[in-house]
Amino acid sequence: MNQKELNAAIVSNAKETQEDAERYYRQILLPSVGEKGQEIIQSLRILIFGSGALGCSCAELLTRAGVQFLRLVDRDVVEWSNLQRQHLFDESDARERRPKVDAAKRRLENINHRVEIEAIVLDVNATNIELLLKGVDAVIDATDRLEERYLLNDVCVKHGIPWVYAAIRRTSAVWMPLTSPNGPCLRCVFPEKPEKETLNAGVWGPAVSTTGGMEVSQLLRYFIEGKPDSSTSVLTEMNLWNNTFVQIPVSKNPKCPCCVGKEFAFLNKKSF
Ligand SMILES: [Zn+2]
Repeated sequence: MNQKELNAAIVSNAKETQEDAERYYRQILLPSVGEKGQEIIQSLRILIFGSGALGCSCAELLTRAGVQFLRLVDRDVVEWSNLQRQHLFDESDARERRPKVDAAKRRLENINHRVEIEAIVLDVNATNIELLLKGVDAVIDATDRLEERYLLNDVCVKHGIPWVYAAIRRTSAVWMPLTSPNGPCLRCVFPEKPEKETLNAGVWGPAVSTTGGMEVSQLLRYFIEGKPDSSTSVLTEMNLWNNTFVQIPVSKNPKCPCCVGKEFAFLNKKSF
């Protein structure tokens, strides 16, 4: 690099530093975040597991917050039926049937070019999920498939990766941080995967924003507060139509086959 190029690089870096200071000003003002919390956010590398409604909501919030890296994984293309609740997509994405992760990456890069976005079109299964966790600090659950969610639980417990479980059904939202190594896992609370899967049920758009907000908030708080360890968590269910809110404390099941017995039944399946 010659002197002229060096000077240009210095000017460019100074401009981006100034933009960052303005961009995150109101977030840094929060006593619970501050300069130190912002530094932590900007060091985080997150896998978002699914790029549907929850994936869009969480990816946008994390991108605006300024994380270092997002890995987006989804197998599907954008359809017209997605536009009612999947915030990152528009009519041109549905018309051209763009892969969801590609459409999301394009939109997110326009929101904050400083966040590195990796888009992976993939049908996730037991043979490839472990590769997706490479180099990430945590996972956001944004899948609507039960088998994938139990598989995610297996792989996160096996590798000690914190994650936040969340699901939306009709007008109700459910979420539960599973961030502590000594805390409960998904199978401590729901030991067996329900046989019946409810795909293509109705989804109330406002439930998406609420659930995504809680997932991202709980995950960022966990890192900003220095990864507090706890033997308990809280399962929260909110019905946005009825305006009801229920919280149930949950703790580790000493007989859990997954986090206690280390039997990773879903990860060890050859196929599903
Ligand atoms: Zn468990």
